Amino acid sequence: MGELFVVGMSWRTAPVAIREKLAFREEEVPGVVSHLVAQPGVQEALLISTCNRVEVYGVGDAAEPSARATRAFLMAQRSLPPSELGNALYQHHGPQAVRHVFRVASALDSLVVGEAQILGQLKSAYGVAGQVGATGPTLARCLERAFGVAKRVRSETSIARGAANVSSVAVELATRVFGDLSGKSVLVVGAGKMSTLAARHLRSAGTERIVVTNRSPQRAEELAAKIDGVAAPWEDLTAQLAAADVVISSTGAREPVLTVPIFKKVTKARRWKPMMIVDIAVPRDADPAIGELDGVYLFDIDDLDKVVQANLAERAKAAEHGARIVEHEAVQFEGWLRGQEVVPTIRALRDQCSHVAEAETQKLLEAMSRRAYSPEERAQAMHHLTQLIVRKILHLPTTVLRSSEGETLQHRVEAVTAMFGLTVPLAAPAADLPGAAPGAQGAADSARALASLDDELEAEVAADLAAEERSPLARVASGGAARNERRFREA
Ligand code: NAP
Repeated sequence: MGELFVVGMSWRTAPVAIREKLAFREEEVPGVVSHLVAQPGVQEALLISTCNRVEVYGVGDAAEPSARATRAFLMAQRSLPPSELGNALYQHHGPQAVRHVFRVASALDSLVVGEAQILGQLKSAYGVAGQVGATGPTLARCLERAFGVAKRVRSETSIARGAANVSSVAVELATRVFGDLSGKSVLVVGAGKMSTLAARHLRSAGTERIVVTNRSPQRAEELAAKIDGVAAPWEDLTAQLAAADVVISSTGAREPVLTVPIFKKVTKARRWKPMMIVDIAVPRDADPAIGELDGVYLFDIDDLDKVVQANLAERAKAAEHGARIVEHEAVQFEGWLRGQEVVPTIRALRDQCSHVAEAETQKLLEAMSRRAYSPEERAQAMHHLTQLIVRKILHLPTTVLRSSEGETLQHRVEAVTAMFGLTVPLAAPAADLPGAAPGAQGAADSARALASLDDELEAEVAADLAAEERSPLARVASGGAARNERRFREA
C-alpha cells in the first residue's frame, strides 16, 4: 500500500504565462500518464490539465521521493528548468494530499468557488488514467470518495447557488423578475462572446423563443443556429424590441444602440407593457434615460456586478461549510488508508488462528472416527477441543507479554486490553507497588493479572502437549478423562 501525493500548479501559484508552459493537450494525457507510472516508486497516477491547473495525483512507494520523481518528470516533459517555474509547483503528501484532492473536486480551490466544471474535468482525467491502467485501489478509492465529497458539498451548502458571471447573472435576474422564462419572448442584441454565453444560459433556463439580432447578419445566424433560435435583421431592431419581454444587450458599440427615441416608439407599440432590459456592455448599449420610461426596467453591468459579488460572498460563506465537510471526510478517508496498512497483518492473524482450529479439529475427528462415542463423551471432547484451541492461540501472545518489561510491557498490556475489550481485575492494591508511576499503575496490575492467568494457561497447554504424546483423544479430553483414555486404548 503506497502513499498519496499531489504535484502541480494552479491559478493560486502561477500566472497563465507559466501555467500554459506546463499544460498538456487532451491527446497528450494518456501517454504522459503511462510514462508517469513507469517512473521509479510511482505506483498510480492521474493527470489533470485545465486552464486553471496542471496537477498529478499519484500513489508512490513513499510520497516524498515519488513526488520528487514526478516533479522532475513533468519538467523534463516540457524541458523546463526549475528556474522558470520558481515556486509555482507545489507538492502535498499523505493527509494534505487527500485534503487537496477533496477540495479541488468540491470546487473549493477553484478561481470561481463552486463552479461545476472542475468535477467533470476530474472525472474525465480519472477515466483516462483508468483506461491506460494507471490507477489502482488507493487512487480509485480516493477519487471515488472525492466525487462523493463534491456531491455532499454541492447539496449540503449553497456553494453552487447564485450565478457567478455577468452573462449568467443577466439570465438569473430575468428569471427572478419573470419567474419563468419559458413563455417569454427574449431578444439578444449582439452576437459576440458575451451574447453567446447569455444565449446559452437563456436556453438552459428553459427559454423557448430566442431572437438574435446583430450588426453583421451572418454572426446573428451563426449564433441563432447554435442555440436553436431565430436571427432577425439589424434594421428591424425597433420592431424586435417591441416584441420582446426581455432584452439582453452586449455589443461593442461606442455609442448607445438602445436610445430614447427608439424606446419611445417601442413602449408605445407595447402599450407600456413591462419589459426588462439587461445591458451587459461597457460602454453601455442603453441610454440610462430609457430606464425612466414607463414599462421599462433597465439593469446595467454595475447592477449585475452587485449580484455577482453578493453571490460570490454567499459562496465564500458556503465554502467555509464546505471546508468543514472536506475536513471530516478527509479524516475518515485517512482512517480507511490506515486500515489498509494493517490488512496483511489481520489476514495473517486470521489464517494462523484458522490453521490452529482446523488442525486440532481434524485430529479430534480422526480420533473419534475409530469407534462410537457416547453423547457425554462427545460433549466433553468438544469442550476440551475449544479450550485447547483458545490456549494454543493465546500461548505465544501470553509468553511475549510475560517476557515484556517497562514501557513495552505497558504498551502491550494496553493494546491487549483494548483489542480484546478486557476488564482486568486489579491483582494487587496500589499500596503494594511502591514507586510505581501513577500512569503505570493500571498497566502493572493488568500485567500481574495476565501473568497469573498465563501461568495457568501455560500449565494447561503443557499438560495438553504431554497428553498428545499419549493419544490424540486424550490430548483433547485430558483433565481426568481416564475412562475415555482407557476405552480409546482398548478400541
Ligand atoms: P465581441 O465578442 O467582440 O462581440 C462584439 C459584438 O458587438 C459583435 O456582435 C459586434 O457585431 C457587435 N458590435 C461591435 N460594434 C458594434 C456597433 N458599433 N454597433 C452594433 N454592434 C456592434 O465582444 P464581447 O466580448 O461579447 O463584449 C461585448 C460587450 O460586453 C462589450 O461592451 C464588453 O465590454 C462587454 N463585456 C464583455 C465581457 C467579457 O468578458 N468579454 C464582460 C463584461 C462585459 P459584429 O458581429 O457586427 O462585429
